[in-house]
Amino acid sequence: MGGHSQGGGIKVQTYAYGFPRLGSSREYKKAIEGFWKNVHDEENVSRSLSNIQKENVKRYSQSIDVFPDGEMSFYDPMLDTAILCGLYDPKNLKEYYESCRGSNALEMTKWFNTNYHYLVTDFSLIRKPNFRNNSKNATLQFKQSQFPQFIGPFTFLKLSKGIDKKDFRNLFIALVKIYKNILVDYKQAQIDEPAFVMGLDRDEIELIKEGYHLLGDTGCEVTLMTYYDSVDFMKDLLVLPVSAIGLDFVRGQASYEYILKRGFPKGKTLIAGLVDGRNIWRNDFSISVTKLKKLSEKAPKLMISNAAPLYHLPVSLCIENKLDKNLKKCLAFAEEKLAEIKMIGDCFEGKSIILGKATVGTYGRDEAIRKRVASLKVHDFVKKVPLAQRKRAQDCILNLPLFPTTTIGSFPQTIEVRKKRADFVAGKISPAGYKRYIQGEIDKLIRFQEDLGLDVLVHGEFERTDMVEFFAQRLSGIATTQNGWVISYGTRAYRPPIVFGDVSRPVPMTLDEIKYAQTKTIKPVKGMLTGAVTIIAWSYCREDIPISDVAFQISLALKDEIIDYEKAGIRVVQVDEAAFREKAPIKKRDWEGYFEWAVKSFNLATNTNPNTQIHTHMCYSEFGEIIGYINRMDYDVISIEASRSKGDIIRFFEGIDFKRQIGLGVWDIHSPSVPSVEQMLDIVKRSLQKIPRENFWLNPDCGLKTRDWPETKKSLENLMETARRVR
Ligand code: GLN
Ligand code: ZN
Repeated sequence: MGGHSQGGGIKVQTYAYGFPRLGSSREYKKAIEGFWKNVHDEENVSRSLSNIQKENVKRYSQSIDVFPDGEMSFYDPMLDTAILCGLYDPKNLKEYYESCRGSNALEMTKWFNTNYHYLVTDFSLIRKPNFRNNSKNATLQFKQSQFPQFIGPFTFLKLSKGIDKKDFRNLFIALVKIYKNILVDYKQAQIDEPAFVMGLDRDEIELIKEGYHLLGDTGCEVTLMTYYDSVDFMKDLLVLPVSAIGLDFVRGQASYEYILKRGFPKGKTLIAGLVDGRNIWRNDFSISVTKLKKLSEKAPKLMISNAAPLYHLPVSLCIENKLDKNLKKCLAFAEEKLAEIKMIGDCFEGKSIILGKATVGTYGRDEAIRKRVASLKVHDFVKKVPLAQRKRAQDCILNLPLFPTTTIGSFPQTIEVRKKRADFVAGKISPAGYKRYIQGEIDKLIRFQEDLGLDVLVHGEFERTDMVEFFAQRLSGIATTQNGWVISYGTRAYRPPIVFGDVSRPVPMTLDEIKYAQTKTIKPVKGMLTGAVTIIAWSYCREDIPISDVAFQISLALKDEIIDYEKAGIRVVQVDEAAFREKAPIKKRDWEGYFEWAVKSFNLATNTNPNTQIHTHMCYSEFGEIIGYINRMDYDVISIEASRSKGDIIRFFEGIDFKRQIGLGVWDIHSPSVPSVEQMLDIVKRSLQKIPRENFWLNPDCGLKTRDWPETKKSLENLMETARRVR
């Protein structure tokens, strides 16, 4: 075969799915939030979303042969699935959004190991789950298309909660029957089953087989899509009665190898996920074309596609005009990924020559930081002074009362604060004027906390937009975008930074504000940092060096920052690791490798003066499985969620030898209601059965930036009253 014509002239079709629903100017957000504010009516929202859908179809059509045209959702596809099978039946959009926000909202949780959050159906709250075909519900109007996309029945149930193991089977079979009823209305449909890549047990696999055989022949051509990792039950998967199977060959190398070794059924179409849907780097066409060629020998009916839904990426690179050109040439956002899918086909067919992969080369390379990481020794990751001894020294220095009180960092970010920050970025106020403004806010907050009687104070984080973006903008080797918005849930979007080079800290990042705050009080002010794992998890990360090296580079920058704090007289430092759990791989067998570097990166960053009290913060309740790893992080105090689980979370700390201090989140800051002293006392009493009183802190369960001042004041007063009573 000639150097150019890899496929010997065979045409391979292209397939794509999951294009971002945000719209290139965040039209999605504007339409829906406008509806919430009564600026738009229901018809307006439908029209706007339908326009985005049309735009997306137009984008697909330019490069892609086959794609679903019914992917749009009014908020969240998992909620839509619950509606589809009749668990909820909103009469209109207003009712639909009551499940998404406000006091009757469903719980939200992370979608696999991504930063997307879905709405969780809790079966324990549904008296008698009665499935029915509810596909004509008006809030599912986008599914009434030629080629809709649905979340599969297994993934939906697996990711729901409140299902007894013994009920799972019956629910699943009942649900499959509903899907069967739904699918007869369509010629073709895409069914997403990302839960197939989880580590499933034999019973679950048997159940999947049973269900999909029951689904059997509906007359609808089903494309079964899996992504995010490899499927462990390939033999069973490949014989499921569906027309096409999609596999992630970027993050699921094992699935690829399986097919090379064992082949692929002749009658089915293999949808080869060759273009990364989770990261923004340009495709390496020679690798993709080689893979495609090998696959073509095994699967005569073959298509090229993205390897994971494209909604983990920003819409388009075209609108980024401030990115350095050396970097930009290496990037592909969702729109560019579509062109890449086509490009792989063209190269395979010999219509296009295979270009080498664009790399950042020496741009962003920093020999000094590489050397520093290369010369790290075991003792850099291990504190010299043991926990108990540190506690004695810190207690002497800090002299805190029993049940010390603190907060997690941020305080209400009012419209005024946000406006000042925007004005500063836009050059409308001078750096000096902005600095004065922030200092004024810090002054007020220090007084506010002293009046309340809090023990460890914070500066309020008024200067920070986002706990990751803020650091990304101050570290070299990380770029931020102007318009690279990605949905994290509902209409909420964030801009993931891009770790493109070696990361280092040119100058202190947060020192000015923390130091300033400390000059205003004799109480300890807590220095506030975002940990390396969280910075990586909420960014797009380079892939040309091991991820542990990237983490250690960031950790060294954080360590230098902590040392600067210490020189400035700061005695307490908190390193937030909000994404520590989320970044864990989907398959448990990969956990050890991940937690190894994740824990080490934390210990490296915080291995400074042992007299500095190190806090960490994680604001979720899924601790059960990772508690052992969390205890390998050598912090002095951890602040965690507790109020939503009513203190139940504390049971996870029983099973292990946990000697550290815990700050229990006695106030659920995700809800606008003010917790009473009694509610807080209940949680404390319950927890005190397990945790010794001298290790116990009181605090809200997360930062207060989304709250208002009046409720913040009332809730903190109650928190202080709780402290007085337990003391
Ligand atoms: N320190 C951060 C804050 O208070 C922590 C935020 C988080 O855990 N998500 O805002
Ligand atoms: Zn938090």
